[in-house]
Amino acid sequence: MDRICRWGFARLLSGLVAGAIILPAVMARVAEAHEVLALHASNLRWHAPAKSLTATFLGKDEKETAVLVLKKAAVFGTEVSIQSDASAITIVSGDSLRIAFPVDPAPDGAVSKVKMTGGDQPALLFNEKERARDRGKWIELVESKEKNVTIELANASFATVTFEAKALDQGLDATPPTPTAAQGAPGAVARTPGASGGADTELLHTVTPAQLRAASDAFANGVSRTCPHCSGSGKVTVSVQTGTRQEGRLTRPLYTDETRQCDRCRGTGHLRASDEVLNRLAGTFLKSLSSLKQDDPKSQDAISDAYKMITASMVGDFKTWTLLTENGRSILSQRTPVPGTPVIAKALIKQSYPKQNGKRLYLVEIGGTDKLVLVSDPVSADELQSGPALIGGLVESAERQTADRRAIAIVSQGFLVAPPIEKGWYWWWWWRTDGPADPPARNGGGFARPN
Ligand SMILES: [Zn+2]
Repeated sequence: MDRICRWGFARLLSGLVAGAIILPAVMARVAEAHEVLALHASNLRWHAPAKSLTATFLGKDEKETAVLVLKKAAVFGTEVSIQSDASAITIVSGDSLRIAFPVDPAPDGAVSKVKMTGGDQPALLFNEKERARDRGKWIELVESKEKNVTIELANASFATVTFEAKALDQGLDATPPTPTAAQGAPGAVARTPGASGGADTELLHTVTPAQLRAASDAFANGVSRTCPHCSGSGKVTVSVQTGTRQEGRLTRPLYTDETRQCDRCRGTGHLRASDEVLNRLAGTFLKSLSSLKQDDPKSQDAISDAYKMITASMVGDFKTWTLLTENGRSILSQRTPVPGTPVIAKALIKQSYPKQNGKRLYLVEIGGTDKLVLVSDPVSADELQSGPALIGGLVESAERQTADRRAIAIVSQGFLVAPPIEKGWYWWWWWRTDGPADPPARNGGGFARPN
């Protein structure tokens, strides 16, 4: 376990060192930096460097539907060329608007040309021809408020999509300046109690390793600290009057020492902070992690300790991860969470994406909800493809949608930790049921087994 921990910790370190610096660049690369591709999880399957006029599908051997989400403002009025072995090309907008074109197979893939025009003369040309029956649908697509248009390639194992240079220019013109986190999001809702901090996500990397360690220790102590009243024994010795003794004319009380359960900690020997305090301490910890001075030689040790704390005090404690997850859910369910709000939640990994610039991205579903979150460049103790993990990070202002219009929140600068423990243990077991009917008592920071 120690080896795995260290390895995970090395990943955590590399993730974090790069995290704040490269991660925004990765996210930008996926979306903003490419003027034609929208910021969308589907596009993570495409290789499309900034300023490149091509997007190449990162397909596998088996055939699948390749989905590319483009900015309307960029591609409208230009021709998009698609070379692929797909059997059909479908232009998609919203839930139900679909315009499909069958593609005749060709050796090394057929080349299809799609020209999408909006404005006063809306037209959709497929290989330079317009189909009369698509006209109404196309006008509907042009006039819809959707900012993106999706191209689906059915049964594709490879695809290369080529744009005109004009599309890049149009995309650049249409890209609004990215609001800095310090400005906050327009229409931001009130901060959730317990989610300390808020829109102050300018990551200045001013947190020292000692400060991170302090924040980590504070959380661990919040989860469980030795009861000062009984020094952790759970028992206190009290003198109890058991009677009196007559000494001449004096009546003296008689005392006996009695051992009783400590009423401060109810005999557990440990005290736990209130839920509100724990949520606040978790937020402080996450913010410290994300703003750590990475060039400090001691940062690696501090991250190592932080990783251990996450596995022991967050993952390893039933009451704690359920509390954090509940809080994380409520933040993520807000229409516009304040950017930079720290979020921690237990989640199920739905998909991990190919590395981009050495960084990993994970699509996860928050436990007990159908909320999707894109976790950018997390740590993991394993090359995780699936299964439960505790995720943490700061909410980004951007939120995206899947092809079927499920909202995807983006959480970055954090962690993704799956405990290196036996699968029969409680943490894993929780996922095989609808949740615990009878949660086991915490066991002092270890991993609780199911009953
Ligand atoms: Zn006590």
